Amino acid sequence: MDAAAAVPLPLARARADQVAMLYGGWARTTASMLFGGLLFCAAMRDETAIGLMAGWFALVIANQAIRYALLRAWLAARPGIGATARWGRYWSYGSAAAGALWGFAAIAMFPSAPAHQALSIVCLFGVVLGGLNLTAVYKASFYGFVLPALVPLIVRVGLEGGPVHLYTALVMSVVLAFVLAFGHRLNDVLTDALATRHRNADLIDELKERTRAALDARTAAEAANRGKSQLLAAASHDLRQPLHALGLFVAALARRVEDAEAAPLVASVRGALQALEAQFSQLIDLSRLEAGALEPARERVVLKSLFDRLERDFGVEARARGLGLAFVPTRTTVDSDPALVERMLRNLIANALRYTRRGGVVVGARRRGPDIAIEVVDSGVGIAPEHRQRIFEEFYQVQTPGTGSARGMGLGLAIVRRFAALLGHRLELASERGRGSRFRIVLPRAPDATGARPKDDRGGHPLAGACIAVIDDDPSAVEGMRALFAAQGAQVAGGAHAEAVLAALGEAGRYPDLIVADLRLADDANGLDAIALLRDQFGTTIPALVVSGDLRESSEREVRGAGLALLSKPVVPASLEAAATGLVAAARG
Ligand code: ADP
Repeated sequence: MDAAAAVPLPLARARADQVAMLYGGWARTTASMLFGGLLFCAAMRDETAIGLMAGWFALVIANQAIRYALLRAWLAARPGIGATARWGRYWSYGSAAAGALWGFAAIAMFPSAPAHQALSIVCLFGVVLGGLNLTAVYKASFYGFVLPALVPLIVRVGLEGGPVHLYTALVMSVVLAFVLAFGHRLNDVLTDALATRHRNADLIDELKERTRAALDARTAAEAANRGKSQLLAAASHDLRQPLHALGLFVAALARRVEDAEAAPLVASVRGALQALEAQFSQLIDLSRLEAGALEPARERVVLKSLFDRLERDFGVEARARGLGLAFVPTRTTVDSDPALVERMLRNLIANALRYTRRGGVVVGARRRGPDIAIEVVDSGVGIAPEHRQRIFEEFYQVQTPGTGSARGMGLGLAIVRRFAALLGHRLELASERGRGSRFRIVLPRAPDATGARPKDDRGGHPLAGACIAVIDDDPSAVEGMRALFAAQGAQVAGGAHAEAVLAALGEAGRYPDLIVADLRLADDANGLDAIALLRDQFGTTIPALVVSGDLRESSEREVRGAGLALLSKPVVPASLEAAATGLVAAARG
């Protein structure tokens, strides 16, 4: 049975290569056998019977002819690695026969004249040494040829007797030992080199395979990530709808409830809803960061407008908790992404209020060379030095008993840190335990625009008596807005698409003072087109703003590209009111 299966694969392949080299060397072997044989016969022609020589030479030719047939058989069989040893053995029999013919010649044609004796020795060693590179390819073939070729000669020379012949036989024995050792070593080196070549080829194949697998995995991961972003955008859009409507209803309800017992309940519902919205927004922010779906769009941000909005949104909570909340008046403008910088400040202010029991929170902006440092300073519990790095990690929270309202999820500061990194803004923290903390966002100042007036400056009650066209395919959102704006004396003409709103406006006999449109409407309709249609119809530029739960960057760009303000769902009712008031007031001049 072949033993090839038991040897390691690269070695087995090396052996197969060696057998192939044996068979591939047939022509050269034949040439050296015939040439050597002719030379030998020529040298011995005076000493040997011609018939013997011819017979011997015919046997040499016959052996090579048999080996040619073997070569053909091998070529036809194209044997696999498993059959290596067998085909190696077949060839070695041929080598042994060739060696035996030389050994026979050394004995049967051994000349009596010393000069001819020397010639025959040179001839035989010449044939063996000259063919070393062919025979040493395979050990069985090598030993099979060399030993039967030279041992009879050495014995024959020794049998001549006398010191010269004995000495010659001794020297020939030593040379034979060297030849055997050399051939053996040559074979080992060759085997090793071939096995190494196969090992390297295997490694390269494996490397190629792994590289391809890694590339496949990366492509799959990228596809999954894209899928995740799309799923996220779609899911958050659906989740935002009801949250958005709920917020509007609760805000409207809060205004109308006069019952002393019901009022605190509504306030609690409002508080819980706000907490839900904040946590939802944080989760969405984090998922968008994870999905790499955030591309900051930098522009000039008027801090006054931002501070006013934050003051309105956080003022109620601060007052409810008996804390001061002051925004230092500023005319500064910064260069940042307005939505992201607002999120960061919201998280910092929410934390400052949450972790403060007495005193309050001050938010301000100061110049720092070419930069602006926006600071959120509180007189709260402070942060121990060992936590100051780690609080910026996801889900890291410090156990601080008895602080503020419901704890968050440990994501607020992680989002602040990642937004800051995305925008290239620096974050700084100074804190003293029991005395308070100061968080700072350092960001570039934008050149002041002369005569710029913050859009949401209020004057009087611009919404009273106004007509607001609301386009939203979610009826509950339309009703929520109706309830919210009704509380300010404004009328809402709403519908699921532009045509429905036009009809409602016609019925009411009103001209819209403001359009509020959802970005994605039913039947693939687009809020921007709806706005354009209404504007076309009324032949003027009616102020408009877009509300959307669609988180994709492309959507944000689309709205901004149309020169419109975008509020994301669920909208904070106070922000919606402020934006609507600002736009209507500005349009009235
Ligand atoms: P959380 O949702 O717990 O507020 P954050 O990531 O916003 O998560 O904050 C992480 C931790 O940092 C908080 O648990 C809190 O212990 C600490 N921390 C954050 N802001 C303040 C602050 N202004 N004063 C004291 N501790 C703070």
